[in-house]
Amino acid sequence: MSQVIPIRSTDALGCTNTPVISEKGQREVFCGLTGIIWLHRKIQDAFFLVVGSRTCAHLIQSAAGVMIFAEPRFGTAIIDERDLAGIADANDELDRVVSELLARRQDIKLLFLVGSCPSEVIKLDLSRAAERLSRQHMPHTRVLSYSGSGIETTFTQGEDACLAALAQTLPSRTTQGKHLLIVGTLADVVEDQLSALLRKMGIERFDFFPPRRSTALPAIGPETVCVLAQPFLADTAKQLESKGVKRLDAPFPLGAEGTTQWLRVIAQAFAIDNNQFEEATQAPRQRAEQSVARHRTQLQGKSITFLPDSQLEIPLARFVYQELHMKLLEVGTPYLHRQIMALELEQLPSNTRLSEGQSLELQLDRCDADQPDLIVCGLGLANPLEAKGFTTKWSIELVFTPIQGYEQAGDLAALFSRPLARKLKLVA
Ligand code: SF4
Repeated sequence: MSQVIPIRSTDALGCTNTPVISEKGQREVFCGLTGIIWLHRKIQDAFFLVVGSRTCAHLIQSAAGVMIFAEPRFGTAIIDERDLAGIADANDELDRVVSELLARRQDIKLLFLVGSCPSEVIKLDLSRAAERLSRQHMPHTRVLSYSGSGIETTFTQGEDACLAALAQTLPSRTTQGKHLLIVGTLADVVEDQLSALLRKMGIERFDFFPPRRSTALPAIGPETVCVLAQPFLADTAKQLESKGVKRLDAPFPLGAEGTTQWLRVIAQAFAIDNNQFEEATQAPRQRAEQSVARHRTQLQGKSITFLPDSQLEIPLARFVYQELHMKLLEVGTPYLHRQIMALELEQLPSNTRLSEGQSLELQLDRCDADQPDLIVCGLGLANPLEAKGFTTKWSIELVFTPIQGYEQAGDLAALFSRPLARKLKLVA
């Protein structure tokens, strides 16, 4: 049986003290509204009402690809010229739209008012609107608000803003005993696999946040500890910490090694015996290592650059370096949360070029100079880069595809090997 010898950075601190290129120029990322696409699928009785423009409506409609007759659980209350000119009272309009929506859709138990660039421009106070509407529509429907505006948020930050708002409403835990909260939207299949593993390890008291139904919000208390399953949830973590929840420092469950490290942190926090941990994880870990190994043959030695987009870049860079033996050229991220990323950074080679933020032209100049074999980037940059002869992978696919946990490790590796295999076929 083939075994992966995890590569560690030769420097014990890896990239921890590596200087970071910080850029604040033109950036090429989605706004936080994009998070609605996976959040509305996860919380099955929630509705996301974007208070925005036709542009916002087009973004969500085309990205989610849902037919209108499918009664999707998101929509846009369009701010029109009369609202922008201050002729109409936007709050009255919003109350009317919400009342009509909730009268028609009795299945909505949680309504998010999602702020956008236009709602910010006209300074519409959505948190006050949410309080007012919640008073009106509770107990049937709770109304919360958060901002997905492109002025304030990028791409995955929308989920962070949404969960930070929802975290404020978590009930208090009354039962005794240590309790685990796994934070971040995961595909149902990934949750089911992780649940089975945790039970096998002997951990029974755990919840996922967000839950599949808003009526099943997990309760938290002084004995709750949380672990992030997604790396872009700094505000949510802060909100939970302010409610007395202790955050476990862990790498992210990507790949065989990342998943093992993530589970080991949980096992240690719950004082799980090492034999029991090994027994629970050994078989799935070996399966993951084997499925990753199939892609390593093709990818080892190939160079890769991550352009800043999803905030998954650093854990993904650790995975491709450690388990696929790829060569990291530049790892760019929109924001670098050093605390949350500490255990990931120390596993990257110390000579990795790290960048935070973006100055698009400068970054593309560096790509031209580096000539990476593969560039992971946002949708908007993929075509121009392909036209220049680069091979690309859309970072959005790494957000939409279930990639966490042992059983998905091979699929994760395939997301990196497929574009290179396609390129080879085109050249041949
Ligand atoms: S929130 Fe702003 S950036 Fe996002 S779609 Fe609407 S107008 Fe565009």
